Amino acid sequence: MIKEKGILFVLSGPSGVGKGTVRKALFERATDLQYSISMTTRNKRVGESEAVDYFYRSREEFEQMIQDNQLLEYAEYVGNYYGTPRKYVTETLESGKDVFLEIEVQGALQVKKNFPEGVFIFLSPPNLEELKNRIVNRGTESEDLVTNRLNAAKQEIAMMDAYDYVVVNDQINKAVDKVQAIVKSEHCKRERVASLYKKVLEVEEK
Ligand code: 5GP
Repeated sequence: MIKEKGILFVLSGPSGVGKGTVRKALFERATDLQYSISMTTRNKRVGESEAVDYFYRSREEFEQMIQDNQLLEYAEYVGNYYGTPRKYVTETLESGKDVFLEIEVQGALQVKKNFPEGVFIFLSPPNLEELKNRIVNRGTESEDLVTNRLNAAKQEIAMMDAYDYVVVNDQINKAVDKVQAIVKSEHCKRERVASLYKKVLEVEEK
């Protein structure tokens, strides 16, 4: 039987934008997405549990995973390692289910190299919008403040380049709605639908 492979969705964005909050709110809703639990060397926080929030490992264990090429991507963030176990992602996609990653930006760029067919969603801070409005309306703020914000905003916009979609995190529920809309749209993409039909009908793809 010909089976459609799952789609890999990657949610990322600048630090402090609320990726974790949006991801948690998304998985509180009914969804067919499978969350890939990351591995980390950071300590467990109150209320977190092993194999739910993260797989908590020592630096030695983590470095062994890197050596054995068992991580799809990894990054060092504020003195700790974070990474995505490769096996879960590839096996789940092969089984036809969509996988969802919520990771920081360096890791997302690595995934993009290995999985260019993934769908990359950039969660953007609402202040980018505010900044645009302020500049457009020529507000009363000091020039230094505007320049600082502009520089920060330019860096954030440059980061967006590698992504397919931008979701502004102004309200959590609205951001989750948009992520779900992206998931639906990706399943309706002509390339994906047509390639499956062609396989089913055994028509050669050009
Ligand atoms: P926290 O320590 O607050 O749970 O997460 C810190 C940062 O690590 C967040 O930006 C989160 O998105 C990111 N992160 C979580 N898991 C992974 C992962 O597997 N790989 C990468 N590259 N970043 C991750």
